[in-house]
Amino acid sequence: MSVWNYLKYTPRMFYKRGAMPLYFVFFVTENCNAHCSHCLLGQRTEWVKDELTVDEIEKISASMGDMLFFTPTGGEPFIRKDLAEIVHIFKVNNHAANVGIPTNGSLTGRIVETTETMLRQNPNIDLHIDVSIDGIGEDHDRIRNTPGLFDKAVHTYKELRRLEKHYPNFSVCVQITVSALNQDRLLPLYDYLGKELGVNTVFTLLTRGEPADPMTKDFDIARYEELHRALERDNKARILSGYYKMPFSDVLNAKRIVRPRIIAKTVRENRYQIPCYAGTLGGAMFSRGQVLPCEVRPDRMIANVRDYDYDFGKVWFSRRADEMRRDIRETKCFCTYECFLTVNILFNPLVLPQVFKEYLALKAAKVRHRISPLESGRLHDGVATPAHEE
Ligand code: SF4
Repeated sequence: MSVWNYLKYTPRMFYKRGAMPLYFVFFVTENCNAHCSHCLLGQRTEWVKDELTVDEIEKISASMGDMLFFTPTGGEPFIRKDLAEIVHIFKVNNHAANVGIPTNGSLTGRIVETTETMLRQNPNIDLHIDVSIDGIGEDHDRIRNTPGLFDKAVHTYKELRRLEKHYPNFSVCVQITVSALNQDRLLPLYDYLGKELGVNTVFTLLTRGEPADPMTKDFDIARYEELHRALERDNKARILSGYYKMPFSDVLNAKRIVRPRIIAKTVRENRYQIPCYAGTLGGAMFSRGQVLPCEVRPDRMIANVRDYDYDFGKVWFSRRADEMRRDIRETKCFCTYECFLTVNILFNPLVLPQVFKEYLALKAAKVRHRISPLESGRLHDGVATPAHEE
């Protein structure tokens, strides 16, 4: 992917109103084959029907502008057999530059096949698949109330790592959802991911919204900070590579050092830290066409795009949308939602110096590593090697 496809969005640091979202989260399905206690979609007892079809999605996408980040999510996004088609639509119509797809990793064959199709059809997107692993073995299965899920997720991760070697624009990451259910075992889990699976990119999601089991949000932020100190240390020691295939990878890696600090401060102080650009730079849509500034606050639903003849612009620039934007601004809305914090950090000139400082630290670490490669733990040319393959 050319750097221009990223740089063309820099003016949006200075003007944010009157344009379409450049970070778009689309719940391609709300259905899932796991039953995670921390799921932000809450308790789902019935299969959601009447989700947007590919034809409907095509019309919606055609009415939207270009986007830097496109996140097809769920539910389990790979449940949709037409996921590759959906990604292609957003690539063609909206020039989606960076596509990130979370998965519970349960459908190994379909995930690998669909990923390969997406990579073949869209050779110039930066694609990353984020496989969820929240605990080791049965611990993970218990958190996600799904027997056998850990083994499947690990299998999927390994298969995607194989695929990664053949595509310069593809990366696979592990995402850990931090909740009251695993907070006491985060460091052993991280240790396991590095030593046993050779995981080279890890990031976290802090349980948010109205989870299926409300007590999952009863976490101790100190445990989260402890894990992030380890991640920062290993990123700077080049034991973790973080992103390394995308343009501006180290800017994104630096952002991943700054972001958890903002999240931890938000939780500790329980107050606003930086402006949120949901409703301007960021937007979300549920699987039946409900458009929102962000999915964390479903009460701020703007409208259903089906009622607007699939014209996203009409919804996005409606009076109700303006009211929601004003509400977010005037109430100084705050939360810990990682995806939108990405744009809240990268498009805020006042926060960027913090990112730049960490960027320089990562670059300095790379230079040190080149001078003395033995400093590095598991990395070989940016790719970690599973311990058992060393
Ligand atoms: S701060 Fe969080 S809840 Fe509020 S608008 Fe932004 S993303 Fe949504």
